[in-house]
Amino acid sequence: LLEIRGLTKAFGTTTVLDGVDLSVDAGSVTVIVGPSGSGKSTLLRCINHLETPDAGTISVDGSLIAYRRDGEVLRELPERTIAAQRRRIGMVFQQFQLFGHMTALANVVEAPIGVLGRSRRDAEERGRALLARVGLDGREDAYPRQLSGGQQQRVAIARALAMDPTLMLFDEPTSALDPALVGEVLAVLRDLAERGTTMVVVTHEIAFAREVADTVVVLRDGRVERVGPPAEVLDDAPVA
Ligand code: ATP
Ligand code: MG
Repeated sequence: LLEIRGLTKAFGTTTVLDGVDLSVDAGSVTVIVGPSGSGKSTLLRCINHLETPDAGTISVDGSLIAYRRDGEVLRELPERTIAAQRRRIGMVFQQFQLFGHMTALANVVEAPIGVLGRSRRDAEERGRALLARVGLDGREDAYPRQLSGGQQQRVAIARALAMDPTLMLFDEPTSALDPALVGEVLAVLRDLAERGTTMVVVTHEIAFAREVADTVVVLRDGRVERVGPPAEVLDDAPVA
């Protein structure tokens, strides 16, 4: 579903991603681990076109985006191809980034109505179902400040799912949470994995990786240091 070849990205003179190759099969869970500054967030941001790579190719579900050495998107790949691809990728951040002035349900239905052009009625019906799926039945009208961190993150996950993504990206979705709230968010991720959602998850939760990941990628200094099933990769890899 996702194919990355030779992905390279520098900020100024610092090379943050140095020829990263990554393949993600449909329905699989890929966990990315690695020390701080190894390029994990930058990799996810490149997949979602929040950063423009300097070189390499990214293909999602058969639609290919290629980048030249000079960082310009190749001419035959128009901006709207990128916009279309981005719409099919859901992203959940460490800081939940909900709209604070909007209820949980309003957060979830905003993009389906505004971007996909769904009717309010359909979007709200589906939004309620998604909030129920992440365990927030009855909290549709709560504002983010009235919810715990774990609940807010689950709203953020429901909001991403509301766009019917083919690929879900998670960047340390539990790092900002009190330890007591980590489990409820990981349970939602586990449920998504069991439903066959294709996911790429950056996390330091090694027990979660061991249990849920099909593939673990160890990133170090912008390169893939190790890749393989968790049992092979996690046993002796020194992971920060
Ligand atoms: P962490 O575990 O701390 O989240 P990470 O593996 O996600 O780390 P990145 O956030 O991808 O690492 O950052 C990799 C490197 O790129 C770091 O040295 C960081 O300072 C640098 N970097 C990231 N974004 C930018 C930016 N917009 N401008 C300049 N440098 C950046
Ligand atoms: Mg990061």
